[in-house]
Amino acid sequence: MRSSILFTSCLLSLIERSFSLTLTSGQRISSRMRKNQNHQDTRRGPKSFFDLRAIEQWGEENGLKEHHLKTIYKVVMTSYSCDRPSRHEESQVLQDKLRALSFPQACIPNLLSEFGYTCTIRNIQQSQGGAKFGIQLANGKFVESVLIRHERNNGDVRYTVCVSSQVGCAKKCSFCATGTMGLIGQLSSAEILEQIHLLQQYVKHKNLPGKIRNVVFMGMGEPLDNYDAVHESIRGITHQCLFGLKAKKVTVSTVGSSAQKIKALADEAPQVCLALSLHSAIQSSREKLIPSAVSISLEELGDALDYHAKKSGRGSMLEYLLINGVNDSNDEVDSLAEFCLKREGNVYVNLIPYNPTLAGDNFGYQTPSDERISDFHDKLKAAGVKALVRWSTQNGRDANGACGQLVLTSIT
Ligand code: SF4
Repeated sequence: MRSSILFTSCLLSLIERSFSLTLTSGQRISSRMRKNQNHQDTRRGPKSFFDLRAIEQWGEENGLKEHHLKTIYKVVMTSYSCDRPSRHEESQVLQDKLRALSFPQACIPNLLSEFGYTCTIRNIQQSQGGAKFGIQLANGKFVESVLIRHERNNGDVRYTVCVSSQVGCAKKCSFCATGTMGLIGQLSSAEILEQIHLLQQYVKHKNLPGKIRNVVFMGMGEPLDNYDAVHESIRGITHQCLFGLKAKKVTVSTVGSSAQKIKALADEAPQVCLALSLHSAIQSSREKLIPSAVSISLEELGDALDYHAKKSGRGSMLEYLLINGVNDSNDEVDSLAEFCLKREGNVYVNLIPYNPTLAGDNFGYQTPSDERISDFHDKLKAAGVKALVRWSTQNGRDANGACGQLVLTSIT
């Protein structure tokens, strides 16, 4: 499973948000976007079709049975058009489909007045490794999602969807442009699910080969800071009448500032993969990269990882962003190896060469040379740690969509 994820770490967080402007102007535009986000926070509309609890409650209130809800989901999953029809046209399509499937006629007007699609694709930027989407939420705020294309040697194509769980982020990691925004809002479970649905419809609409096979919470935001919505969205991702993915095809990426939430995820969704963005196994160095790491020691973090590894039975996955002269020294390799070798079960380390971002530029961060990256990798392997260099995370540089590069900039 792990090998199928090309982008790793807090991908979008690392990927960040950048649609059409250059990195040098990103900070200015980021401020404008923040302003827009605040100004557009007044739209109201129907509840989302992907608000599973609301749909279930509505069904109960209307005396509907389980198979009726399945019909709703079937129609909802196949009906959204990327051409953005009017709400009236959209309702007409849904109505016709529901009628054709013998859904109780008397309930249809009420269903379609109370529920609808609430998120919209506003911007798409293609890159070599996939595409990056600017998605507007019902309240007018924006997030980004990424469709990552994988092509196997036999020509089979599959996609990973990288979703956002928050608008902005409170964690302020030094390499990450999302962190420069601060936390603007929390996404609902429905808004998380709608991101996946929109990208799925895009693949269908464009007649692209292949299907979505993985979902990674590596977009804007720290997923464990929006735990309940993320947990509820996983119910939708794995729901047989919705996206139907196995839990092991879902990865939650965290910078790990809460041992309690890592353990809660292990208890409540043990088959969901956890990716810990470690970035340094030296506490002081880690705190420089991830300021929120000040609230948790490496021992506590290791303990939470071990707890998760025991519950999942699959070991631990660590993400390590390699930054020239910052966390690529021999001391860092030794500390990382020591941290990994102490863990319960197998540990897999993804080494991610830093991609230039505006946020990282402020700290003078640079990508290590290929030789330095390979040397770090070799030393880690020689110490007995399983590690891979994710060279592929650089594939999206042409669209500023590679790991760490997304900066939501073009929303006006
Ligand atoms: S947790 Fe850190 S890396 Fe992830 S989105 Fe927030 S600021 Fe960025």
